[in-house]
Amino acid sequence: SFESRTAMTDNEQQASSIQTGNPVLHIDNVKKSYRNGKVVNPVLKGISFDINPHEVVALLGPSGSGKSTLMKCVNLLEHVDDGQIWLNGTDITDPRVNADNSRARIGVVFQQFNLFPHMSVLKNVTLGAIKVHHWPKDKAEAKAHELLRRIGMNEKTKAYPDQLSGGQQQRVAICRALMTDPELLLLDEITSALDPMLVGEVLDMVTELKERGTTILMATHEMEFAHHAADRIVLLQKGVITENGTPQEVMEESQNPDTREFFSHFR
Ligand code: ADP
Ligand code: MG
Repeated sequence: SFESRTAMTDNEQQASSIQTGNPVLHIDNVKKSYRNGKVVNPVLKGISFDINPHEVVALLGPSGSGKSTLMKCVNLLEHVDDGQIWLNGTDITDPRVNADNSRARIGVVFQQFNLFPHMSVLKNVTLGAIKVHHWPKDKAEAKAHELLRRIGMNEKTKAYPDQLSGGQQQRVAICRALMTDPELLLLDEITSALDPMLVGEVLDMVTELKERGTTILMATHEMEFAHHAADRIVLLQKGVITENGTPQEVMEESQNPDTREFFSHFR
Protein backbone atom coordinates (compact mmCIF):
# COMPACT_ATOMS: atom_id res chain seq x y z
CA SER A 1 0.00 0.00 0.00
CA PHE A 2 0.98 3.64 -0.25
CA GLU A 3 1.45 3.82 3.54
CA SER A 4 3.80 0.86 3.65
CA ARG A 5 5.71 2.25 0.70
CA THR A 6 6.24 5.62 2.33
CA ALA A 7 7.32 3.80 5.52
CA MET A 8 10.17 2.12 3.66
CA THR A 9 13.68 3.53 3.80
CA ASP A 10 15.23 4.80 0.57
CA ASN A 11 17.40 1.69 0.38
CA GLU A 12 14.45 -0.65 0.81
CA GLN A 13 12.50 1.30 -1.76
CA GLN A 14 15.36 1.08 -4.21
CA ALA A 15 15.67 -2.66 -3.62
CA SER A 16 11.96 -3.24 -4.15
CA SER A 17 11.89 -1.08 -7.26
CA ILE A 18 14.72 -3.15 -8.73
CA GLN A 19 12.90 -6.38 -7.96
CA THR A 20 9.52 -5.36 -9.35
CA GLY A 21 10.49 -2.82 -11.98
CA ASN A 22 7.58 -0.85 -10.54
CA PRO A 23 4.95 -1.66 -13.13
CA VAL A 24 1.73 0.35 -13.04
CA LEU A 25 -0.23 -2.90 -13.31
CA HIS A 26 1.06 -6.31 -12.22
CA ILE A 27 -1.32 -9.18 -12.93
CA ASP A 28 -0.18 -12.33 -11.18
CA ASN A 29 -1.72 -15.73 -12.01
CA VAL A 30 -5.31 -14.51 -12.12
CA LYS A 31 -7.97 -17.19 -12.40
CA LYS A 32 -11.66 -16.58 -12.91
CA SER A 33 -14.57 -18.90 -13.68
CA TYR A 34 -18.23 -18.11 -14.15
CA ARG A 35 -20.60 -20.58 -12.49
CA ASN A 36 -24.13 -21.37 -13.54
CA GLY A 37 -25.45 -23.98 -11.14
CA LYS A 38 -23.14 -26.95 -11.54
CA VAL A 39 -21.71 -25.71 -14.83
CA VAL A 40 -18.33 -24.03 -14.44
CA ASN A 41 -16.92 -21.93 -17.29
CA PRO A 42 -13.22 -21.25 -16.65
CA VAL A 43 -12.54 -17.97 -18.47
CA LEU A 44 -9.16 -16.86 -17.10
CA LYS A 45 -6.86 -19.80 -16.38
CA GLY A 46 -3.84 -18.15 -14.81
CA ILE A 47 -3.17 -14.76 -16.40
CA SER A 48 0.09 -12.94 -15.71
CA PHE A 49 1.50 -9.82 -17.31
CA ASP A 50 2.70 -6.33 -16.40
CA ILE A 51 2.06 -2.88 -17.77
CA ASN A 52 4.90 -0.41 -17.29
CA PRO A 53 4.51 3.35 -16.85
CA HIS A 54 3.46 5.12 -20.09
CA GLU A 55 2.91 1.85 -21.93
CA VAL A 56 -0.01 1.29 -24.29
CA VAL A 57 -0.85 -2.42 -24.21
CA ALA A 58 -3.35 -3.82 -26.70
CA LEU A 59 -5.28 -6.81 -25.35
CA LEU A 60 -6.28 -8.91 -28.34
CA GLY A 61 -8.15 -12.16 -28.67
CA PRO A 62 -11.26 -13.71 -30.19
CA SER A 63 -14.72 -12.72 -28.93
CA GLY A 64 -15.43 -14.66 -25.76
CA SER A 65 -11.75 -15.12 -24.91
CA GLY A 66 -12.12 -13.18 -21.66
CA LYS A 67 -10.82 -9.69 -22.48
CA SER A 68 -13.75 -7.90 -20.82
CA THR A 69 -13.67 -10.30 -17.88
CA LEU A 70 -10.00 -9.50 -17.30
CA MET A 71 -10.70 -5.77 -17.49
CA LYS A 72 -13.62 -6.13 -15.08
CA CYS A 73 -11.30 -7.96 -12.67
CA VAL A 74 -8.80 -5.08 -12.91
CA ASN A 75 -11.59 -2.58 -12.26
CA LEU A 76 -12.96 -4.76 -9.43
CA LEU A 77 -16.33 -5.16 -11.15
CA GLU A 78 -15.66 -8.92 -10.89
CA HIS A 79 -13.84 -10.84 -8.17
CA VAL A 80 -10.86 -12.97 -9.10
CA ASP A 81 -10.99 -16.59 -7.88
CA ASP A 82 -7.23 -16.75 -7.46
CA GLY A 83 -4.14 -14.64 -8.05
CA GLN A 84 -3.48 -10.95 -7.44
CA ILE A 85 -3.73 -7.67 -9.28
CA TRP A 86 -1.33 -4.96 -8.15
CA LEU A 87 -1.84 -1.30 -9.04
CA ASN A 88 1.34 0.71 -8.45
CA GLY A 89 2.32 -1.48 -5.53
CA THR A 90 -1.15 -2.01 -4.01
CA ASP A 91 -2.71 -5.47 -4.15
CA ILE A 92 -6.18 -4.25 -5.13
CA THR A 93 -7.55 -7.81 -4.95
CA ASP A 94 -6.74 -7.93 -1.23
CA PRO A 95 -10.16 -7.75 0.48
CA ARG A 96 -8.68 -5.47 3.13
CA VAL A 97 -7.99 -2.81 0.48
CA ASN A 98 -10.95 -0.49 -0.09
CA ALA A 99 -12.37 -1.33 -3.52
CA ASP A 100 -13.89 2.11 -4.13
CA ASN A 101 -10.51 3.74 -3.51
CA SER A 102 -8.88 1.32 -5.96
CA ARG A 103 -11.58 1.88 -8.60
CA ALA A 104 -11.14 5.63 -8.24
CA ARG A 105 -7.50 5.25 -9.34
CA ILE A 106 -8.50 3.68 -12.68
CA GLY A 107 -10.29 5.31 -15.64
CA VAL A 108 -12.65 3.11 -17.64
CA VAL A 109 -14.41 3.46 -20.99
CA PHE A 110 -16.67 0.70 -22.31
CA GLN A 111 -17.94 -0.16 -25.77
CA GLN A 112 -21.17 1.80 -25.24
CA PHE A 113 -23.60 3.35 -22.74
CA ASN A 114 -20.86 5.36 -21.07
CA LEU A 115 -22.82 8.59 -20.76
CA PHE A 116 -26.00 9.35 -18.85
CA PRO A 117 -28.56 10.36 -21.52
CA HIS A 118 -30.39 12.85 -19.29
CA MET A 119 -27.28 14.84 -18.40
CA SER A 120 -25.36 17.44 -20.39
CA VAL A 121 -21.81 16.78 -21.53
CA LEU A 122 -20.45 18.99 -18.76
CA LYS A 123 -22.52 17.19 -16.11
CA ASN A 124 -21.46 13.79 -17.43
CA VAL A 125 -17.79 14.73 -17.38
CA THR A 126 -17.79 16.37 -13.94
CA LEU A 127 -20.14 14.02 -12.06
CA GLY A 128 -17.59 11.45 -10.88
CA ALA A 129 -15.02 14.04 -9.86
CA ILE A 130 -17.64 15.84 -7.77
CA LYS A 131 -19.51 12.84 -6.31
CA VAL A 132 -16.70 10.29 -5.95
CA HIS A 133 -13.63 12.47 -5.57
CA HIS A 134 -15.42 15.31 -3.75
CA TRP A 135 -13.96 17.99 -5.99
CA PRO A 136 -15.56 21.42 -5.74
CA LYS A 137 -17.81 22.11 -8.71
CA ASP A 138 -15.70 24.97 -10.11
CA LYS A 139 -12.51 22.90 -10.04
CA ALA A 140 -14.28 20.02 -11.80
CA GLU A 141 -15.79 22.31 -14.42
CA ALA A 142 -12.46 24.00 -15.10
CA LYS A 143 -10.79 20.63 -15.65
CA ALA A 144 -13.68 19.41 -17.82
CA HIS A 145 -13.46 22.53 -20.01
CA GLU A 146 -9.71 22.01 -20.38
CA LEU A 147 -10.13 18.36 -21.44
CA LEU A 148 -13.02 19.13 -23.79
CA ARG A 149 -11.12 22.04 -25.33
CA ARG A 150 -8.22 19.71 -26.10
CA ILE A 151 -10.52 17.61 -28.30
CA GLY A 152 -12.31 20.59 -29.82
CA MET A 153 -15.55 19.94 -27.98
CA ASN A 154 -15.66 22.94 -25.66
CA GLU A 155 -18.68 24.25 -27.56
CA LYS A 156 -20.65 21.09 -26.79
CA THR A 157 -20.64 21.32 -23.01
CA LYS A 158 -24.40 22.01 -22.84
CA ALA A 159 -25.31 19.35 -25.42
CA TYR A 160 -26.94 16.07 -24.43
CA PRO A 161 -25.44 12.72 -25.51
CA ASP A 162 -28.10 12.07 -28.19
CA GLN A 163 -27.10 15.34 -29.87
CA LEU A 164 -23.58 14.00 -30.39
CA SER A 165 -22.20 11.46 -32.83
CA GLY A 166 -21.09 8.12 -31.42
CA GLY A 167 -17.49 9.18 -31.89
CA GLN A 168 -18.06 12.42 -29.98
CA GLN A 169 -19.80 10.47 -27.21
CA GLN A 170 -16.83 8.15 -26.83
CA ARG A 171 -14.41 11.06 -26.76
CA VAL A 172 -16.49 12.71 -24.04
CA ALA A 173 -16.45 9.39 -22.15
CA ILE A 174 -12.65 9.38 -22.39
CA CYS A 175 -12.56 12.94 -21.02
CA ARG A 176 -14.67 11.81 -18.09
CA ALA A 177 -12.32 8.90 -17.43
CA LEU A 178 -9.35 11.29 -17.44
CA MET A 179 -10.79 13.89 -15.06
CA THR A 180 -8.90 12.84 -11.95
CA ASP A 181 -5.67 11.74 -13.69
CA PRO A 182 -6.10 7.97 -13.28
CA GLU A 183 -3.00 5.83 -12.89
CA LEU A 184 -4.32 3.46 -15.56
CA LEU A 185 -6.85 3.84 -18.35
CA LEU A 186 -8.90 0.78 -19.38
CA LEU A 187 -10.48 0.99 -22.82
CA ASP A 188 -12.74 -1.97 -23.63
CA GLU A 189 -13.53 -2.08 -27.36
CA ILE A 190 -14.38 1.61 -27.36
CA THR A 191 -14.74 1.74 -31.16
CA SER A 192 -16.62 -1.54 -31.71
CA ALA A 193 -20.09 0.02 -31.68
CA LEU A 194 -19.16 2.95 -33.93
CA ASP A 195 -19.82 3.59 -37.60
CA PRO A 196 -16.53 2.90 -39.41
CA MET A 197 -16.36 6.60 -40.35
CA LEU A 198 -16.18 7.59 -36.67
CA VAL A 199 -13.55 5.11 -35.52
CA GLY A 200 -10.60 7.26 -36.61
CA GLU A 201 -11.37 10.28 -34.44
CA VAL A 202 -11.57 8.10 -31.32
CA LEU A 203 -8.35 6.23 -32.12
CA ASP A 204 -6.64 9.57 -32.82
CA MET A 205 -7.54 10.61 -29.28
CA VAL A 206 -5.95 7.41 -27.94
CA THR A 207 -2.80 8.25 -29.91
CA GLU A 208 -2.80 11.72 -28.37
CA LEU A 209 -3.10 10.22 -24.88
CA LYS A 210 -0.20 7.90 -25.63
CA GLU A 211 1.91 10.89 -26.65
CA ARG A 212 1.04 12.51 -23.31
CA GLY A 213 2.29 9.42 -21.48
CA THR A 214 -1.00 7.90 -20.34
CA THR A 215 -0.72 4.25 -19.30
CA ILE A 216 -3.38 2.30 -21.22
CA LEU A 217 -4.75 -1.23 -21.44
CA MET A 218 -7.05 -1.46 -24.43
CA ALA A 219 -9.06 -4.39 -25.71
CA THR A 220 -9.60 -3.89 -29.43
CA HIS A 221 -10.20 -5.55 -32.76
CA GLU A 222 -8.55 -2.64 -34.61
CA MET A 223 -5.48 -4.61 -35.69
CA GLU A 224 -3.90 -1.89 -37.79
CA PHE A 225 -4.16 0.55 -34.89
CA ALA A 226 -2.76 -2.01 -32.43
CA HIS A 227 0.10 -2.65 -34.81
CA HIS A 228 1.22 0.96 -35.12
CA ALA A 229 0.09 2.47 -31.80
CA ALA A 230 0.57 -0.21 -29.14
CA ASP A 231 3.90 -0.66 -27.41
CA ARG A 232 2.99 -4.24 -26.66
CA ILE A 233 0.45 -6.83 -27.71
CA VAL A 234 -0.98 -9.31 -25.23
CA LEU A 235 -2.92 -12.10 -26.92
CA LEU A 236 -5.56 -13.95 -24.91
CA GLN A 237 -6.79 -17.25 -26.29
CA LYS A 238 -8.86 -19.90 -24.50
CA GLY A 239 -8.14 -18.40 -21.10
CA VAL A 240 -4.37 -18.13 -21.36
CA ILE A 241 -1.92 -15.50 -22.58
CA THR A 242 -0.41 -17.00 -25.71
CA GLU A 243 1.66 -13.98 -26.74
CA ASN A 244 3.18 -10.98 -24.98
CA GLY A 245 5.55 -8.93 -27.11
CA THR A 246 5.99 -6.04 -29.50
CA PRO A 247 3.53 -5.74 -32.38
CA GLN A 248 6.25 -6.94 -34.73
CA GLU A 249 7.10 -9.99 -32.59
CA VAL A 250 3.49 -11.02 -32.09
CA MET A 251 1.78 -9.98 -35.31
CA GLU A 252 4.54 -10.65 -37.81
CA GLU A 253 7.17 -12.99 -36.41
CA SER A 254 5.31 -15.45 -34.16
CA GLN A 255 5.63 -19.07 -35.22
CA ASN A 256 2.79 -20.18 -32.95
CA PRO A 257 0.14 -21.68 -35.29
CA ASP A 258 -2.77 -20.43 -33.10
CA THR A 259 -1.36 -16.90 -33.20
CA ARG A 260 -0.91 -16.99 -36.96
CA GLU A 261 -4.41 -18.38 -37.36
CA PHE A 262 -5.86 -15.57 -35.23
CA PHE A 263 -4.18 -12.78 -37.19
CA SER A 264 -4.94 -14.40 -40.55
CA HIS A 265 -8.58 -13.33 -40.08
CA PHE A 266 -7.59 -9.69 -40.16
CA ARG A 267 -5.49 -9.67 -43.33
P1 ADP B 1 -14.44 -10.99 -24.58
O1 ADP B 1 -14.51 -9.64 -23.94
O2 ADP B 1 -13.05 -11.40 -24.94
O3 ADP B 1 -15.37 -11.12 -25.75
P2 ADP B 1 -15.81 -11.91 -22.18
O4 ADP B 1 -14.91 -11.63 -21.04
O5 ADP B 1 -16.93 -10.97 -22.42
O6 ADP B 1 -14.92 -12.07 -23.50
O7 ADP B 1 -16.42 -13.36 -22.03
C1 ADP B 1 -15.63 -14.50 -21.78
C2 ADP B 1 -16.51 -15.68 -21.45
O8 ADP B 1 -17.15 -15.46 -20.21
C3 ADP B 1 -17.60 -15.97 -22.46
O9 ADP B 1 -17.75 -17.36 -22.53
C4 ADP B 1 -18.82 -15.33 -21.83
O10 ADP B 1 -19.97 -15.96 -22.24
C5 ADP B 1 -18.57 -15.54 -20.35
N1 ADP B 1 -19.14 -14.48 -19.51
C6 ADP B 1 -18.85 -13.16 -19.58
N2 ADP B 1 -19.51 -12.46 -18.65
C7 ADP B 1 -20.25 -13.37 -17.95
C8 ADP B 1 -21.14 -13.27 -16.84
N3 ADP B 1 -21.40 -12.10 -16.25
N4 ADP B 1 -21.72 -14.41 -16.39
C9 ADP B 1 -21.45 -15.59 -16.97
N5 ADP B 1 -20.61 -15.76 -18.01
C10 ADP B 1 -20.01 -14.66 -18.50
MG1 MG C 1 -15.43 -7.87 -24.49
